Amino acid sequence: MIPSGFEYHRPSSVQDAIRLLNENEDAKILAGGHSLLPMMKLRFAEPAHLIDLNGLAELKGIRLDGDTLCIGAMTTENELIDSDLVKQHCPLLVDVAKLVADPQVRNRGTVGGDVAHGDPGNDHPAVMLALDAEFVIQGPDGERRQAANGFFLGTYWTGLEEGEVMTEIRIPPIPANGGYGYNKLKRKTGDYATAGSTVVLELDGASCKEIRIGLTNVAPMAIRAEAAEDLLRGQNIDEALIEQAAELVMQACDPAEDLRGDIQYKTHMAAEMTRRSIRDALARAGS
Ligand SMILES: Cc1cc2nc3c(=O)[nH]c(=O)nc-3n(C[C@H](O)[C@H](O)[C@H](O)COP(=O)(O)OP(=O)(O)OC[C@H]3O[C@@H](n4cnc5c(N)ncnc54)[C@H](O)[C@@H]3O)c2cc1C
Repeated sequence: MIPSGFEYHRPSSVQDAIRLLNENEDAKILAGGHSLLPMMKLRFAEPAHLIDLNGLAELKGIRLDGDTLCIGAMTTENELIDSDLVKQHCPLLVDVAKLVADPQVRNRGTVGGDVAHGDPGNDHPAVMLALDAEFVIQGPDGERRQAANGFFLGTYWTGLEEGEVMTEIRIPPIPANGGYGYNKLKRKTGDYATAGSTVVLELDGASCKEIRIGLTNVAPMAIRAEAAEDLLRGQNIDEALIEQAAELVMQACDPAEDLRGDIQYKTHMAAEMTRRSIRDALARAGS
């Protein structure tokens, strides 16, 4: 289908983008366009103005600020995959980006757009929860930062306010005695997750000092499996505990039935993805 008419704007800076967003009623940011344009073609979204961020070099690029990995919101999935900094400081993101959609989408789709869209089926939101990431957001009143935890409020609903632009994603380091795991069940290459689970943990000897579990596409938004985290924190994690954590993950799930499966199947797959991610994270942490 053909989208309804809109006015196209190409801002010269982030400030200019914020001005355009706030001066024009019913304006939307255009990043990679791989979520927004399909919605416009289906007329689920009919913005009157599109503010295209693609000319803004200041929103691209990956750098270190101390030991925090800082990723410009307009960085594409393929740029994540190719980045030596990401490979070295957060290889989890390389694994994730490789499983996002297909090469065409990964060439244009941005990590900021993936997060800002608020789609529970997108991969990055739950990963950002597990990584304890922070989002840098600019608006008419200046810059603010918001933790990933608490940012995802519902389907297509995030902590971004009208007229704001996400500029950067900040990712704290995974400690030397830490590990990560990311498992995504999908029907075929290029598909969204039927269910996904990301685990980031830190060990203190054999004991689990910290753990965060992010779940993909099994609730109206990306969620943390907090009861399972609480069970595992401070414990020497073994198979019996992993089984108990998997039960708690299932209790946290609230998926919608669709072509990818019914509620029971998706709930059980979230538990299975979590079992696998915990084992992967423990193995990487040297347990
Ligand atoms: C066939 C197909 C398969 C896909 N499979 C997957 C998958 O497996 N996993 C996955 O994670 N994703 C998947 N996607 C989605 C894809 O990753 C999108 O690129 C992503 O969701 C949105 O990023 P974008 O840069 O394209 O943003 P856009 O589509 O341009 O924008 C999405 C939304 O975010 C807003 N936005 C974008 N950037 C900003 C910003 N910097 N600040 C504030 N608001 C912003 C826009 O206004 C819009 O509302 C798939 C898409 C397609 C078409």
